[in-house]
Amino acid sequence: MSITDYSDSNLPKMKCVIIDGDVMTIKPKQQAYAQTKLEPKVIDNVRLAKNNAKPRLSILGMGYVGLVTAACFSELGYQVIGADPDKTKIDTLSRGEVPIVEPGLSELLQQAKSENRLSATTDVIDAVLKSDVSLISVGTPSDDSGSCNIRYLQQAAKQIGQALKMKNNYHLIIFRSTVPPKTCREYLIPLIEMHSGKTRGLGFGVCFNPEFLRESSAIEDFFNPPKTVIGCLDKRSGDYAAKLYQAIPGEPIMCSLEAAEFVKYVDNAWHAVKVSFANEIGRLCKSVGVNSHQVMEIFKQDTKLNISANYLMPGFAYGGSCLPKDTSGILSLAARNGVDLPLIRSLAETNDRHIGHALELIERRGPRSVGIVGYSFKAGTDDLRESPSIRLAAALEKLGYQVYYYDPNLCTELKQQRLHQAGAKLPGQYCKNSNVLIRQSDLIVVAHQDAYAESIANKAMARKPLLDLMGLCESSRKNQNYQGLCW
Ligand code: NAD
Repeated sequence: MSITDYSDSNLPKMKCVIIDGDVMTIKPKQQAYAQTKLEPKVIDNVRLAKNNAKPRLSILGMGYVGLVTAACFSELGYQVIGADPDKTKIDTLSRGEVPIVEPGLSELLQQAKSENRLSATTDVIDAVLKSDVSLISVGTPSDDSGSCNIRYLQQAAKQIGQALKMKNNYHLIIFRSTVPPKTCREYLIPLIEMHSGKTRGLGFGVCFNPEFLRESSAIEDFFNPPKTVIGCLDKRSGDYAAKLYQAIPGEPIMCSLEAAEFVKYVDNAWHAVKVSFANEIGRLCKSVGVNSHQVMEIFKQDTKLNISANYLMPGFAYGGSCLPKDTSGILSLAARNGVDLPLIRSLAETNDRHIGHALELIERRGPRSVGIVGYSFKAGTDDLRESPSIRLAAALEKLGYQVYYYDPNLCTELKQQRLHQAGAKLPGQYCKNSNVLIRQSDLIVVAHQDAYAESIANKAMARKPLLDLMGLCESSRKNQNYQGLCW
């Protein structure tokens, strides 16, 4: 690969690194995309990968994702064949024109073409045949019912299979189109096996590597992605795919095919929640004459609770003295000002459904008595206001179940006396200790995220069915007495 000098003094100086035994140039523009930690990582990998020739890539689907991927991998020194049945697109590319608008793409494509690292064809099978790795980024539009239509992927899988039938050596297939979980394993891999006559893991490897680029900053996102996720069929596939990304900052996150497929959906749902939440706050702020941008600027500065990993692990319903009260307060403020907030309005409903889901899992198990560990709204407090455990207990009692509970902050004579004096009428019967609770209950529910609850759960599980609402005992998934609420 030739070394090009850039004379623009505003740009950082060119770096020379070695990848897969080749000397390659990280051009100033690309340096700007990549983080500074790029260099040591690349050099580490060089030693591992030395003398290995770069695999040839075929990229199926020359839309937004495929074109950017093709241009950027060419920029990294790979030999790339872009394939798409759309003749107009391929003719446009072959003339050196770019069929879409994306900043920087035209320059990268022209450079790749002039250095003979990129070609384009309508012959998908031939492209696969002439490559070692195929990256698939065909469209997956919604069908009439709103579900993901995978017909282009199925067609691509069939074509890959037909090509592999004519190929002797191992081929890696990396699916990148956004799909629901299990699409690769249940639909695409069987098609490849059927048309190639080869077996997964032997004749070919499979990865799912979701694309996180955003149109309009796609090239920058490729060279500096929020994360690189590689779901793999097996270790060989995963290691091979990870090597392609060794010049990209950040360690790839290796996982199952299904987790990689799903995370893209989850990301996009989350982004939609964020946009909609901010817009609802904006509408409400405007209606009451508060500067919404100022409010959200302050909101974003809280990186401990707001913009953080907090509250993002599946667990039990929310409760306590603040969340139910204040979300309801926001809604009534909105109603008084004639503003509809469907997202915030849905929170109480989704929270209720979550308690309903716990109830359903208990009912399915058919116990007569249920013991709940953790009664206050969360561990480490005796605050019972809007406690989801108590709401669950009340619903169980209403259905005729005998309910017992144990909570170290509530289950003492003194505390019970005080509750009695305060006129607090709790559902269920309190147990002085956890042994009594385990003995008397047919099924145990753990509702506190705390060491005491974990030790009771482990003790209980040896004898009784356990419903874990907090993800305390995930390592016991295989125990037939164990059941997680939503994992
Ligand atoms: P697109 O519609 O722009 O391009 C898809 C291309 O695939 C088309 O040119 C089509 O002709 C081609 N194609 C169809 N069947 C083919 C086959 N058998 N072989 C080769 N090519 C074939 O789609 P896109 O926006 O690039 O998105 C591709 C996938 O990536 C989708 O699943 C999308 O959800 C996902 N994705 C898109 C973005 C984005 O910003 N556009 C970002 C991340 C992920």
